[in-house]
Amino acid sequence: MAQPTKQQQMDALAAEIVDNDICPELAATAQRLVVGDGNLDADIIFIGEAPGKKEDETGLPFVGASGKFLDEMLTSVNLTRQDVYITSIVKYRPPNNRDPKPAEKAAFWPYQLKQLEIIQPKVVVTLGKHSLGYFLPGAKIAEVHGQASHVMIDGMDLIVIPLFHPAAALYRRSLRQTLIDDFLKVPELIKQLGA
Ligand code: URA
Repeated sequence: MAQPTKQQQMDALAAEIVDNDICPELAATAQRLVVGDGNLDADIIFIGEAPGKKEDETGLPFVGASGKFLDEMLTSVNLTRQDVYITSIVKYRPPNNRDPKPAEKAAFWPYQLKQLEIIQPKVVVTLGKHSLGYFLPGAKIAEVHGQASHVMIDGMDLIVIPLFHPAAALYRRSLRQTLIDDFLKVPELIKQLGA
């Protein structure tokens, strides 16, 4: 039998999240699962926090205000959404956009790992502290943002680049330029680490 395509594997992953009743309380208040979007052969995956209102309505990650900002930053390094894969560590919208709870992040983590196994990216760009916590446990975003490191996760050798979350930079003007500057460094950091 033919190997399932990456799209079929991703569809099966989404079905598994629903069948396994992951985060039933979030599933009950969210309109839909937001698995992720982009190029399944991408070298770079961006991992945010959790879907917001617009994402919950459309089923697509980062399509609200922070998504617009993310798009601008992708353009600044000559990338488009079709060049990368974009997702969030928690894949249902938390009510009123509250922070995801530790148990919710933990429940989605095995599926995040499977998503990485399907895509096999070389670089993980974490957006905000929630995904950072899973790739560089204990690291503080204020100290490690914009710095790349090699991390072994589940047998995968990944380059992890932590960035502030675009939403945080929209709320705190002082972070905006820092995020823009960090983003501009991403291609060079990747080249230096040999991805
Ligand atoms: N913030 C996230 O972390 N993910 C989204 O999809 C949208 C906003």
